[in-house]
Amino acid sequence: MRNRHSFPTRADRVLAEVEAARDEIVAFTAELIRVPTVNPPGDFYRDCAEVIGRQLAKTGLAVQYVEAEGRPEHTAAHPRVNVVGRGEGAAGRPRLHLNGHFDVVPPGDGWSVDPFGGVVRGGRIHGRGASDMKSGIAAAAFAVEAIRRAGVDLEGAVDVSGTVDEESGGFAGVAYLCEAGIISAPETGYAIIPEPFGPARICVGHRGVYWFDAIAHGHAAHGSMPHLGHSAIDDMGALLEGFRTRLGPELAARLSALPVVPGLSRRPSLNVNAVVGGQAGETTQSPCVSDRCTATFDRRFVPEETFEEVRSEIADLVAAVERRNPRRRFRIEDRMVVHPVQTPSGSPVTRALSAAVAKVCGKPAELVASPGTYDQKHFARIAGVEHCVAYGPGPLEEAHQPDESCAVDDIVASTRVLALAVLELAGPNEGA
Ligand SMILES: [Zn+2]
Repeated sequence: MRNRHSFPTRADRVLAEVEAARDEIVAFTAELIRVPTVNPPGDFYRDCAEVIGRQLAKTGLAVQYVEAEGRPEHTAAHPRVNVVGRGEGAAGRPRLHLNGHFDVVPPGDGWSVDPFGGVVRGGRIHGRGASDMKSGIAAAAFAVEAIRRAGVDLEGAVDVSGTVDEESGGFAGVAYLCEAGIISAPETGYAIIPEPFGPARICVGHRGVYWFDAIAHGHAAHGSMPHLGHSAIDDMGALLEGFRTRLGPELAARLSALPVVPGLSRRPSLNVNAVVGGQAGETTQSPCVSDRCTATFDRRFVPEETFEEVRSEIADLVAAVERRNPRRRFRIEDRMVVHPVQTPSGSPVTRALSAAVAKVCGKPAELVASPGTYDQKHFARIAGVEHCVAYGPGPLEEAHQPDESCAVDDIVASTRVLALAVLELAGPNEGA
C-alpha cells in the first residue's frame, strides 16, 4: 500500500525487509532444527538458547539467559536454560512479548529425512520442530529484526524469548519467567506465542486438562484358585466399560462455543493413557490374582464445564461401578489440572493480528482454539497477561508427526503478519 505521495509507508518498508530476509529466515530455522533439543530429557537447551540469543543480540535486544534455579528438572546433565531478549520502549506503554518454546518431542520412527537435518526440499523445511515450533521462533525473531532494518523506532518495548519444556508443562520455561517477574502484567501487556496454527489462523485459547489415576484394589490369591481372591484387573475392566458406555456418550453430546480445531475437539473427551496391573508380561510369571490395577486418564474439558463438575461426574461413575459389586474398591488420585483459557474477545492483540492477516493473506483471519494446552496458561494465570494469543506458521496437524515440515512461504507470510502486528501494538502513531 502506498500513501498519496507514493513514498513507501513504514509498513511497506518493513514488509520489504521481511521479503529480503527470506533466505536468512530459512537458514535460521534450519540452524534451530539442527540443535536436537529433545524433551524428554531436555537435550542441548543451552546450545539452542545461545543460537537464539545471538540472533536477538543482532537486533539490539538486551539478551539474558535465565536458568531455572530451584526446579528439580534443572540438573547438571540437563540444565533448563531460557533466553530473553528485552527491548527498550517508552515507560508506561505495555510491553509486547513474543515467546516460543524450543524443546521438541522425540523424533520417533518413520522419517524419510534426517529429523535434525533442517533439509529444505520442495519449498518446505523438514525436521523435528519445523512446525512445532522452531519456524515460529524464527518468524518472531525476524519480524522484530525486519522492523529494525526498516529503520522504524518502536515506541513500545518488544521482548522476544525462547523457552524450554513446553512439551512437559513449561514449568522451567514460561512459568519460571512469569514467577521470576520477567513476564508480568501490567508491565507486559500483550503476548504472542507463534505456535503452529498456520498463517491465517489466530488461536484464542485452549481446553482444560484433568489427568488422574484410578486405582483398583483387589485381593491377592493363588492363580489356580481365583475364586479365593478378587481381581483388581477385572474391576478396572468394569470401570473402563462404565467410562466408555456411560460417560462417553454424555461427553459426545456436549458442544463448546469455543472454536476448537479440529471440530470434533469442540466436544470434551476422555482418553485412557495407560493401564498397569498384575505381573508385567516380560517378568517371570507366578500364579497370582492381581490385587492392584492402575489406569491413567486424560480428560479434556471445555469452558462450559467447571472442574468441580468434571470431577464429581467421575466420582459418581466410580461409585456406580462399585455399587454393582460390594467387593469393588477404587481410589482416584489427581495428577494435574489445567483450567481452560480464553483471550478476552476484542483483545487488541487479536485485532492487530486480524488486520495483519487480512492484509498479508488477503482473507479474514480465522479465530480458533487449541484442543491441547500450551504456554498461554502461564501467561494468563501466573503473569496475569490476559491479552495473549497463539499465532505462527506451520501445520498443526504435522506437530509431533514423522516427517514434520513447514512451507517456507508460510514462515515468511507469518513473519510478515507478526511484523505488522508488532508495528500496530508497539509502533509510533501513524505519521509520527
Ligand atoms: Zn508447541
